Amino acid sequence: MAEEPGTEARRRELSGSLERVRERIRRATEAAGRDSEPALIVVTKFHPASDVRLLAELGVRDVGENRDQEAAAKAAELEELPLAWHFIGQLQTNKAKSVVRYADAVHSVDRASLVSALGKAVGASSRDRALDCLVQVNLDPQAAPGRGGALPEEVPGLSDLLAGTEGLRLAGVMAVAPLGEDPAEAFARLASIAEQMQRRHPGADMVSAGMTQDLEQAVAAGATHLRIGTDVLGARPRVR
Ligand SMILES: *Cc1c(COP(=O)(O)O)cnc(C)c1O
Repeated sequence: MAEEPGTEARRRELSGSLERVRERIRRATEAAGRDSEPALIVVTKFHPASDVRLLAELGVRDVGENRDQEAAAKAAELEELPLAWHFIGQLQTNKAKSVVRYADAVHSVDRASLVSALGKAVGASSRDRALDCLVQVNLDPQAAPGRGGALPEEVPGLSDLLAGTEGLRLAGVMAVAPLGEDPAEAFARLASIAEQMQRRHPGADMVSAGMTQDLEQAVAAGATHLRIGTDVLGARPRVR
């Protein structure tokens, strides 16, 4: 099949930016004195499925999306590709049924009602394996409501609930560094929340933290999964 015009140029562009981001991760890992690099999840939200296809051809295996409608359409179009889909956006309970059809992991579990909706949705679906769920933590000390994320004091209860829900696997924690604070300090709080979680739930070892702006601080604080969009794909188209 002939490729769309411009595909080759976009492939070269993505190949270059991906290599630069991988180098950035290598350097950050070395600077942090860690022996293993965190995994890269490329956040493809707002970018077309054709970009996701090119990324897969360039060796990307993990992609992140934050809106169910967009993610479901891309996942369906790219079904044959060996990609793991990470849902990283705020999730309404009525979207749980859709998300469990294509998502390998949901990073944004922040309330009990969502745990039960996801558990029910997995039970009713044809999935043959558990859904990895991360508890999203709101690290803002002045917790701006509505930005998503459980408060730190809610994390143990939510983790126990998740761990006890059939069809779901408690996989770890996720956070976005709050605006106006040194991300290193915020990620240090996340690391300690992750440690407490792992003491109770030893398999819950994912720490999803770090975006284009604060990748280095996240690596230094022990992130196991980075969610990088802009630095790989360029600026997101603004209006959709
Ligand atoms: C969009 C998004 C990212 C990626 O952000 P960039 O700054 O483009 O790297 C990471 N995490 C979440 C939760 C996002 O919504």
